[in-house]
Amino acid sequence: MEIFRIGLIPITWRDGIDILLLALLLYGALRWFYRTNLLGVALFLLILTIFLKITSLLGLLATSFLLKNLLTWIGLVLAVLMAPELRRLLYSVRLLPGLGFLRKGVITEEKAEKLAEELIESLQLLARNNLGALIVIEGNDDLNTFIQTGDAVQMPVEARMFLVIFEKRSPLHDGAAIVRGDKIVAVRCTLPLSERLDLPQTLGQRHRAAIGITEQADAMTLVVSEETGLISIAQRGELRRALPLEIKKQLISFYLRP
Ligand code: ATP
Ligand code: MG
Repeated sequence: MEIFRIGLIPITWRDGIDILLLALLLYGALRWFYRTNLLGVALFLLILTIFLKITSLLGLLATSFLLKNLLTWIGLVLAVLMAPELRRLLYSVRLLPGLGFLRKGVITEEKAEKLAEELIESLQLLARNNLGALIVIEGNDDLNTFIQTGDAVQMPVEARMFLVIFEKRSPLHDGAAIVRGDKIVAVRCTLPLSERLDLPQTLGQRHRAAIGITEQADAMTLVVSEETGLISIAQRGELRRALPLEIKKQLISFYLRP
């Protein structure tokens, strides 16, 4: 059934759905390429595809044959190189964005506030004791691949637990602790380091790791610097110092996200 016309071309519902699906697919693909720092590769592939189309339209058989094969091979090589990212992507697929809570249990406003307070107290206690710490709070993106790099645990989100974990003589203090909902689910985890070149020289590995994980997942990271005792928060690839009250607000809205 025709709904409207662009010039002489009739546009039907089917065309509308077709365009919408294509736009959603393109948006999703671009977002993923952007998050995995592969936007350059994506553009290169796009240009190659357009070039392939032109050569086959012009009937340049040899070139279009070569390009077609090249694209297949690039696809294969990419799939092998990007295996961990692809795995993470498949892990994070949700049927509906809002269904995350089914998996993690509903967090009420009251509970979110309690968790935020406990986390703030933990950060302050760690800082007072000159202990460095790296705490990742899982968002909607699954962090299983990172949990696997450390030791799985089941501990409540409590200040004394974090103190035991990040105590310098503790065998668990190295790397990051990962929080899922109201539980610490892993310790000693290795996170991807951010490859950003514009970060201040004063930021070491701990802070780079804090940023790195938020470039690859929608997690929130809390860092206590061992050197300065300063507390920072990282989200969506950005790290900044923050005061307890501000962190509390952010944590609550993070826990209550859709
Ligand atoms: P601080 O201000 O606390 O000194 P920093 O940003 O200067 O932090 P480093 O001094 O390099 O960082 O911190 C080293 C600690 O950071 C290590 O002992 C380890 O626990 C943690 N760390 C380093 N790399 C990673 C990583 N890839 N994933 C998780 N944790 C890491
Ligand atoms: Mg350091």
